[in-house]
Amino acid sequence: MSLLVKNGRVIDPANGLDAAADILVVDGRVSRVSPGLAAPAGARIVDAGGRVVAPGLIDIHVHLREPGYEYKETIATGTRAAAAGGFTAVACMANTSPVNDTRAVTDYILAQARAGGVVRVYPIGAVTRGLRGAELAELGELAEAGCVAYSDDGRPVMNTALLRRALEYAQAFGKPIISHAEDAHLAEGGVMHEGFVATDLGLQGIPAAAEEIMVARDVALAELTGHRVHIAHVSTAGAIRLLRDAKARGVPVTGEVTPHHLVLTDEALRSYDANAKMAPPLRGKRDVEACREALADGTLDAIATDHAPHAVVDKEVELDHAANGIVGLETAVPLCLTHLVRQRILDLSTLIARLTVGPARVLDLPGGSLTPGAPGDITILDLGREHRIEPARFLSRARNTPFGGWPCVGAPWMTIVGGRVVMREGVVQEGTPR
Ligand SMILES: [Zn+2]
Repeated sequence: MSLLVKNGRVIDPANGLDAAADILVVDGRVSRVSPGLAAPAGARIVDAGGRVVAPGLIDIHVHLREPGYEYKETIATGTRAAAAGGFTAVACMANTSPVNDTRAVTDYILAQARAGGVVRVYPIGAVTRGLRGAELAELGELAEAGCVAYSDDGRPVMNTALLRRALEYAQAFGKPIISHAEDAHLAEGGVMHEGFVATDLGLQGIPAAAEEIMVARDVALAELTGHRVHIAHVSTAGAIRLLRDAKARGVPVTGEVTPHHLVLTDEALRSYDANAKMAPPLRGKRDVEACREALADGTLDAIATDHAPHAVVDKEVELDHAANGIVGLETAVPLCLTHLVRQRILDLSTLIARLTVGPARVLDLPGGSLTPGAPGDITILDLGREHRIEPARFLSRARNTPFGGWPCVGAPWMTIVGGRVVMREGVVQEGTPR
């Protein structure tokens, strides 16, 4: 079984490649990348028509909601949203019901992904039992079952001694810990970023310090234990200063940023739209600028969507009671192409790096490059496609986004997983399960 992608502009940051080339995938793996490749007998041929051909995009921070919250999203619908958004692999957080804190839940997630998923699914196990922050989950068992990292995401692990022990155990299993860096006491009761806009609106704020205190703590623990901490959804200039300094000193920390923290500020709350409510909150203009700069210079390793599907009932309530988060899988690529690359904040190759090799390295995932032998995961982008974001057409079960109606230029055109076309021009190709 083979697939030949012809006539593409191949951008593979891991190999420093940006050139016209063809890609041959054989038996699910990249076989050759070179101009003028001939198709083996029986190969499927995809004509990229000059579009940008990249390694499959990887999103290391999504909430697929299954098991337990299937009314918000399922592994089937979430992976279809991923495919539509150009992602060939996602890593899903543990805050399901039951929580992914045992082998049985990890097994279930992987079985559902095999049966009904269309992209690769990498489960993330809980750090603490039930995400309660009191005792450690069975970290060894979770690693054995296939978890690629540990996180209580959605909640911080407030007990520093417990997190230290988690890091020491996690080191033995070679899996990083992903930190939702937010001091719960300092953030309590807040609905948005603490600053001028919050004061103006009379809403309780969450100070940048709530994030920075925890990033400083996590850096100190990474240094103490020598084990890797990955900071989820970095959102403040101060957190970035801490990360930049830690990395310069060789501390094993990495960081990600979401598209919404790159393109929106706390001004979005002026409409009292619950779709602008998230944790961490949308920050001020200086923070956004710092995030953009850190993404460009590599202080931030990855863009991750924090895809957080919610039902209408979770969001159409007063801000105080509205659930946190927005969907991101189907808006990330158009937003980044339109607001970062076209605005010359990030060059195209760097954007692709932060969506491929960057996240792959953070979680030690296969993929992220087109090196021969790598998984045959490919994303093709149409840089010229003009469109508007239409939540009604999302393949996600959820519609909670503040980006509805936003004009964009550029979109994913095709998603290929293991040499199989799973999405073409927004349409998921249903076929034999992987
Ligand atoms: Zn989080």
